[in-house]
Amino acid sequence: MRTFLIAGNWKMNAGPTDAGKLAKEITSKWAGKTFSSEALLCPPYISIPAVQQAFDGTGFQTGAQNVYIEDDGAFTGEISTSMIKDAGCTYVIIGHSERREYFSESDEFIASKTKKTIDSGLKAILCVGEVLEERKSGNQEKVVEKQVNAVLNHLSADASDHFVIAYEPVWAIGTGETASPEQAQEMHKFIRSLVEKSWGKAKADGVRILYGGSMKPGNAKELLGQPDVDGGLIGGASLDADSYSKILEISESI
Ligand code: PEP
Repeated sequence: MRTFLIAGNWKMNAGPTDAGKLAKEITSKWAGKTFSSEALLCPPYISIPAVQQAFDGTGFQTGAQNVYIEDDGAFTGEISTSMIKDAGCTYVIIGHSERREYFSESDEFIASKTKKTIDSGLKAILCVGEVLEERKSGNQEKVVEKQVNAVLNHLSADASDHFVIAYEPVWAIGTGETASPEQAQEMHKFIRSLVEKSWGKAKADGVRILYGGSMKPGNAKELLGQPDVDGGLIGGASLDADSYSKILEISESI
């Protein structure tokens, strides 16, 4: 049986009060039930303790949406891996397209963050994906290859257990537009082949590749049903307890 990772990215939504409520709403839907997928929600940093408290003893995990590469010191506004671990998180989202675009994060910086995250014992979810013009011009694989290899070149195969890739076509994020299951499968297979080239088949088979981009209850079954889609990174729909819960439920049925 496949074990999916169903990860929610709340982005800059839900302060501690709302995030705590939303987390409780989600867990209440699973009271007395078990799940075999990994269920992860990534609130804004400031809301992590409230969510962590609501998740206590439920099997749901918390993650961070970003991290800095230093351990501590004069880096105003930044958060380190040890702080994220101390707060009880297990995963960190790295290189989201919004960070690449609005905060000019380079492949090199993203590679350093991924390495730092994995070295600290946390799991990294590396986001990659092409913009619309790149897809229209048929360059999507070239773009994604560069993004993936920039990070793989900094990691050893030992990192594979702590390394997740999220394929998020930028044109499908928050737009209501979704990659077709075939487009997702094709790219996921390609990404796995890149991992295989670096780390060999066994490691590549074990690396989870998530799909992100307007995943919702109505399209989750088809997307998660693809052989190389190992879960979802869900933005908008994860802010709704019913929708997130439904996607988790769907992952349990595959
Ligand atoms: C995301 O931002 O990672 C994402 C996939 O967003 P949405 O599901 O809203 O498209």
